[in-house]
Amino acid sequence: MVGSDALKANLEAVRRRIAAAAARAGRDPADVSVMAVTKGQPPEAMRLALEAGVTLIGENRVQEAEAKAASAPPGCELHLIGHLQRNKASRAAALFACVHSIDRLETAVALSRGAVAAGRMVEVLLEKNTSGADTQSGYRDAGLLLEDLARVAELQGLRVRGLMTIAPFTADQAPVRAAFRELRLLLERAQGIVAGLDVLSMGMSGDFELAVEEGATVVRLGTALFGARSRA
Ligand SMILES: *Cc1c(COP(=O)(O)O)cnc(C)c1O
Repeated sequence: MVGSDALKANLEAVRRRIAAAAARAGRDPADVSVMAVTKGQPPEAMRLALEAGVTLIGENRVQEAEAKAASAPPGCELHLIGHLQRNKASRAAALFACVHSIDRLETAVALSRGAVAAGRMVEVLLEKNTSGADTQSGYRDAGLLLEDLARVAELQGLRVRGLMTIAPFTADQAPVRAAFRELRLLLERAQGIVAGLDVLSMGMSGDFELAVEEGATVVRLGTALFGARSRA
């Protein structure tokens, strides 16, 4: 993992690229938040990110996040970006401010139950599979996603904020841009069903500029900030 100075330099470079992408799309760069994805990085990555000015922290596994959360400095806002299994929902409800990866109603119901038991409100995003890849989780069917969205919005312990996706892994820009555009158009439909949706979580180290051009409000960056991961 990089040191503190290199992280700050990486973050500055990322912010410049976000600003340029936002300018190309006529957007305000202040409407794009940077999430530091600390999965596969040592626990001190969270502290370094916070010192560099990034409060939004992404982890993809409940267990790894729990192990690191003990050493997470106050001020970190922990988000789950990886697939959530229903049997880990109550642990997730106690740990995360936001879960980006709701991909079925039962998981949302379990998460809500856990949140109510913990006396918390957990924000959630519904994940759309825009790549068609079997390895990607998320709703494949937009109609089903929108149906579930209305039900999730009624769950007592959750607050739905928007949508998340992972674009296909390819050097070809066209399908990547199409995936991001699909998510933005889906959010517009979702806004007609549930009021107040304002989050589009899309864009990773390899494709965040396209995501910003297509309307991302949160980009999830691991290697662009910290360098290569030591663990998967
Ligand atoms: C790992 C991960 C990221 C960050 O990936 P990088 O390519 O390192 O930026 C973003 N989103 C999700 C869902 C991830 O699992």
